[in-house]
Amino acid sequence: MQGHWKQKKSYSETASGANRIESAHSLTMTEQQEMNYCTQCGAKVVLRIPEGDSHLRHVCPQCGEIHYLNPKLVIGCVAEWEGCLLLCRRAIEPGYGLWTLPAGFMENGESTAQAALRETSEEACASVSIEQLFALVSIPHINQVHLFYRAQLQNAEFGAGEESLETSLFDESQIPWDRLAFRSVVFCLKSYFKDRHSGAFGFHESTLSPP
Ligand SMILES: [Zn+2]
Repeated sequence: MQGHWKQKKSYSETASGANRIESAHSLTMTEQQEMNYCTQCGAKVVLRIPEGDSHLRHVCPQCGEIHYLNPKLVIGCVAEWEGCLLLCRRAIEPGYGLWTLPAGFMENGESTAQAALRETSEEACASVSIEQLFALVSIPHINQVHLFYRAQLQNAEFGAGEESLETSLFDESQIPWDRLAFRSVVFCLKSYFKDRHSGAFGFHESTLSPP
């Protein structure tokens, strides 16, 4: 909700199976970090390396403001109910019509666990109890880090939030692998089932390269 996943060119790391989305939404770092005008004074910014810095920054020639652009956190959870996992079918781009775990951009002023709870509530109208942090996926080429918690649904009540067409519980054999929206979600779900079969959940980290 609140437009986070509606941000143009946000959350764009699509699953490898979803080619029509992949080509439309795979972005370069340059595109992702575009900034034209100073948010302090409105002047046109220029790209240069400030003194004592090592990175190109958007610098305002009028007021001197240096605009630091840093990665965004996308946080969600793998919520289980009686052995099944809760997935949402996206009502927004990127990945319209494809399935994903409930997740979204972390807000200022909240913890990572609070972000997971909020996103699950907003997108799947579901209440969960957060268990452990399960997966961390770095996606440097789009300047995002995705975090997923393991969680338990508190009851069988869930529904489609504003950014979902529908929500549903899937057992392992029903997971729509060829209709998942994001590669980080594919990684998370594969790791989840692997651990569940082994009888112990661990912590999983991955870095995605451009597709
Ligand atoms: Zn300025």
